[in-house]
Amino acid sequence: MNARAETYEDLYGLHSWSNGLLDVTPDGAACLRLPLQPGARPTPLPQVIEAIEARGIRAPVLLRVQQFLEHSLNRLHEAFRAAMESTGYTGQYRGVFPIKVNQQAEVISHLMTAGQQYNYGLEAGSKPELLIALSQPLTEDALLICNGSKDEDFIRLALLSRKLGLRTVIVIETLEEFDLIRRASEDLNIRPLLGVRVKLTERVTGKWQDSSGDRSAFGLGAHDLVTLMDRLRSSGFLDCLVLQHSHLGSQVPDIIDIRRATGEACRFFSEIARMGAPLTHLDLGGGLGVDYSGARRPDDNSVNYTVEEYCANIVETIRYAMDEADLPHPVIVTESGRFVVAHSSIFVFEVLGATLYDAAQRPDTQADDHHLITDLLAVENYIAAPRFQEALNDAVYYRDELRALFRRGQIGLEQLSRAEQGFLYLAGLFKAAAHAGPSQAETAASLGAFTDHYLGNFSLFQSLPDVWAIGQLHPVMPLQRLNELPARQAVISDITCDSDGKLDQFILAGGTAGALPVHDLLEDTPYLIGVFFVGAYQETLGDLHNLFGDANVVTISLDGTGEFSIEHETEADTVAEVLSYVEYDPRACLDAFRKRVELAVTAGKADAAERRRMIAAYKDALAGSTYFD
Ligand SMILES: *Cc1c(COP(=O)(O)O)cnc(C)c1O
Repeated sequence: MNARAETYEDLYGLHSWSNGLLDVTPDGAACLRLPLQPGARPTPLPQVIEAIEARGIRAPVLLRVQQFLEHSLNRLHEAFRAAMESTGYTGQYRGVFPIKVNQQAEVISHLMTAGQQYNYGLEAGSKPELLIALSQPLTEDALLICNGSKDEDFIRLALLSRKLGLRTVIVIETLEEFDLIRRASEDLNIRPLLGVRVKLTERVTGKWQDSSGDRSAFGLGAHDLVTLMDRLRSSGFLDCLVLQHSHLGSQVPDIIDIRRATGEACRFFSEIARMGAPLTHLDLGGGLGVDYSGARRPDDNSVNYTVEEYCANIVETIRYAMDEADLPHPVIVTESGRFVVAHSSIFVFEVLGATLYDAAQRPDTQADDHHLITDLLAVENYIAAPRFQEALNDAVYYRDELRALFRRGQIGLEQLSRAEQGFLYLAGLFKAAAHAGPSQAETAASLGAFTDHYLGNFSLFQSLPDVWAIGQLHPVMPLQRLNELPARQAVISDITCDSDGKLDQFILAGGTAGALPVHDLLEDTPYLIGVFFVGAYQETLGDLHNLFGDANVVTISLDGTGEFSIEHETEADTVAEVLSYVEYDPRACLDAFRKRVELAVTAGKADAAERRRMIAAYKDALAGSTYFD
């Protein structure tokens, strides 16, 4: 069954969505690549997992790759630099990372280190996020942008941070907020750097379109904006207004929307400047999308532009608008979160088992078979190409008739069992025929009902919450045997007891599909599946459904020789930890269990050895992971 590795990379569409970060080794292992060093040796993912396991950390594991984080960060800054240079833009670019997109200490810390050369800043949308930002080594020229609803404590802290030399900009979201800022500023005698969040009327398309346009919950519309300008002027704060913030949305699929919205933001900018504010920064917020599917189309899982186009469009639009308004080119700020972190994390889990929708063994014909069973088994004779669909229709018909006979008491359980088994046997033949046939896509669609179920050792709700909540698609691919033709098509269920806990939409070369091509499981050989580009939004949105806790997290660094080093590891939640999150005291639980065991021993229902085993099993489980060992 061995064929050229490329064939199966093509099946999963790897080269469309991988951004040069992933590849397949000649022996069929998914591997990590350094896209800017084509000569560097790739690092096979199964080997990474093996090495991590040798250290006692098992899948499910979230793997962070430091170089992938740096790669996105560099690409964004380089794209803005190149766009500015080629259009003669005289302002600068200052990126900030919106902390909500990935608050993990380790990620923020690495972004600060890697972003130092760019004076990369942070965006805080809440008090806890502000406290995170204030604890980071921001450079003198980096921005700290404060968005979101703010109370007095938030505002006072932001104002006080000016005394540390930080460029903290408080973005006014409502008229009331300005009154709080004014009072706190006068009280502390600290002049603020102010921004104003302007609500654009242009709507963007995509999953988050409701957060755009004039019905969006955030920001000031034209009327409030004019009122604010009056208040700023009359209270002597107009000279503090240095930044205009116009968040474009998230994962904006269409570059035309970005251009239009940027154009409108520029109109507001030049009007606010004309009214006397010393604006120097135009902040376009988030919206820079990730092409999860690699389709390069303006749909929910893709975008029709590259980061280079995004930057070029923004820079060009702003340059024209500012030249026209006779204003100096402002510092362009974006709060691109998803783009910067999405690619850096890969979620890996192991398949625990499979429920197969076929049977290798043909039931043999028996004298007392109902004639419909004989008819069903005879379908085998005409499965091949021209009569494929007819055979499929017949098989389903005979099986359903036999089921009806059983319900009416006309055949017994043995006959039903033979009918079901006969149908599964045919299902195997249908799948094989579809595989061999030329019009694979068509026939595969009619085989949807024969899809196998693979069980993955993970919780969708904990590790891939957006898949469940908003139908987000991430590329999914087995990590090994990619040089072998995958014989099966499977939906992947997680180990929660929730029927929503499954992956049943996949990005493949020909578009999305309801099943993932997978290999037959081999005994004693782990089968690993990777879910790619999950670095944005997933970690803190995850929940404790069925009390499955955080998976292990391991950060690695690639050295270009095919080797890697483990930079950081966070162990998964133990059962005891998860119990305490829902207010159980694990010690009290153990005590209660122990008492119960004692009673059983006293009553003669268990002996001393059993007591020891029971207590040990309970203790081991408390200290262990919530996932299957
Ligand atoms: C969520 C958010 C972002 C991040 O958006 P991405 O599309 O992930 O880049 C940026 N700015 C604000 C104000 C946000 O609310």
